[in-house]
Amino acid sequence: MAETSDIYEKVMEVARRRGFVWPSSEIYGSVAGFIDYGPLGAMLKRNVENLWRSFYVFQEGYYEIECPTVGNEAIFVASGHVKEFADKMVQCPHCGEYLRADHIAEENGIENAGTLSAEALQATLYELPCPSCKEPLGEAGVFAFNLMFETTIGPGSQRKGYLRPETAQGIFTDFPRLLRFYRDKLPFGAVQIGKSYRNEISPRQGMIRLREFSQAEAEIFVHPECKDHPAFDRYADYTVPLLTIARQLDGQEPAAMTMRAAVSEGVIANEYVAYYIALTHRILTAIGVDADKLRFRQHLTDERAHYAADCWDAEVYSGRFGWVEIVGIADRTNYDLRSHAAHSGTSMTVFMPYDEPKRVVKRRIVADMGVLGPQYRGKAKAIADALAASEPGEDGARVTVDGEEFFIPADLYAVREEEVEVRGEEVMPHVIEPSYGIDRMIYVALEHSYAEEEVEGEIRKVLRFPPAVAPIQAAVFPLMNRDGLDDIAQTITERLTQCRILAQYDDSGAIGRRYRRQDEVGTPFAVTVDYDTLEDNTVTVRDRDSMEQVRVPIERLPETLSALISGAVAFRNIRV
Ligand code: AMP
Repeated sequence: MAETSDIYEKVMEVARRRGFVWPSSEIYGSVAGFIDYGPLGAMLKRNVENLWRSFYVFQEGYYEIECPTVGNEAIFVASGHVKEFADKMVQCPHCGEYLRADHIAEENGIENAGTLSAEALQATLYELPCPSCKEPLGEAGVFAFNLMFETTIGPGSQRKGYLRPETAQGIFTDFPRLLRFYRDKLPFGAVQIGKSYRNEISPRQGMIRLREFSQAEAEIFVHPECKDHPAFDRYADYTVPLLTIARQLDGQEPAAMTMRAAVSEGVIANEYVAYYIALTHRILTAIGVDADKLRFRQHLTDERAHYAADCWDAEVYSGRFGWVEIVGIADRTNYDLRSHAAHSGTSMTVFMPYDEPKRVVKRRIVADMGVLGPQYRGKAKAIADALAASEPGEDGARVTVDGEEFFIPADLYAVREEEVEVRGEEVMPHVIEPSYGIDRMIYVALEHSYAEEEVEGEIRKVLRFPPAVAPIQAAVFPLMNRDGLDDIAQTITERLTQCRILAQYDDSGAIGRRYRRQDEVGTPFAVTVDYDTLEDNTVTVRDRDSMEQVRVPIERLPETLSALISGAVAFRNIRV
């Protein structure tokens, strides 16, 4: 295993050199917080996203939608981002550097600095050194900096817009159409994978903190009184390390629990949150995260958004960055829908029919228009409507029309009680939101997959990617570049590609070097065409991790590799 102290440098050196991740617009001097994915990185990213889709879209049945990355101001006023989406910033009075105040405090051993007020943070920072020039920050003021990138839509500055800071808002604003798409029934979910933008104050953590990054988010709309997941049994016995609020306050390590026990003991708020914690564990380990370096931490009460019923972060241990949040899983109650309904005036409820219609007594307030009409003229109709919705007192009712208040005495209306049939009720769903950061997933998959080992006196660098995410799944080598071996290897490569196996032909350099090259980019299987192939139509398949080799007939190669890649068969169990 690589030493943890410089694991980041080692991983990023390979990632840069082999075309996974590059600084963006390097020729002009790159800007912190932006990266390019090179050819292998883009492929790895696609594979990680597709693996995520295989769970959320195929297993869960939640359709994917795609919304613009630029949104009009009204969306983010309603979502609360314009007012609240800010980090606390401080400017060093000596060197002028802008710094994230809570990060400086945390780097100096102050726990949960993110939950401190601006005043408390300022007091904490007084004697701490600026990470850039090392001078004490002194009385430098701490202030809020909104992280959204602002833009204008259309020429001039006609309309204000923002680059979206999360993909979720598109799903919320599409709620009425999604509801119709799902035939007006709960529960249902929609997912979105795409770019999000946050103008991070001083991103110094490579792929972990970017100003443009990709998210994969699911919004699952559920009945507020039924948070039982219909397929809970799938993960009820799944065990996950949970760092609860109580264990954090006691300074304890996480404890492994089944999802069934966590819900029944009230550790996790409901089956939906538990289900997506287990599913997240499954997805992160499937992309190569080491299960021993993965935990689920519950948000502390003062860290959790005020409207959230429960919130957990999937945290992964990085040799460079410590525990990093990779995924957030929250029960957001009806906060988002309520807020968008109030700001847009659009209904965000679902009509839930009763099993049997109910007869209920309803009170109706009917205005005496014969008196109201001549007295209030043009406003009479609006006053009558406001009366119908009012709660009158004994002497009369107070109503407001166009900002003007009226007192209507009780003899100008009648209160009638009538029995009516009610077939159901309007319900505003609650939202369960698992939110994944794709770039962080990719970084930790790279870090945990990276290994160095000595083979025949040489250091072998290897990325032990699971085959499902490896950017190249099979490399095909002709032993020599002649005698028809190269033609056979080319044909095999084409055949594998037709079978949707990501195959790469490579004929340059000694065979040992070609193996090393493929190990370094994480290719799980290498196929070699040699002189025996000409005799018996078999090739050698070599396993990246054990470096063992078996001979496989060419015609059985696609099915053998497919079984190895899907995990249906382990390399040591290949029978040909
Ligand atoms: P949040 O909405 O802040 O809970 O973010 C959801 C997920 O997006 C996090 O768990 C991260 O994985 C990812 N994320 C948030 N901010 C960034 C960033 N600046 N760079 C990369 N990923 C991020």
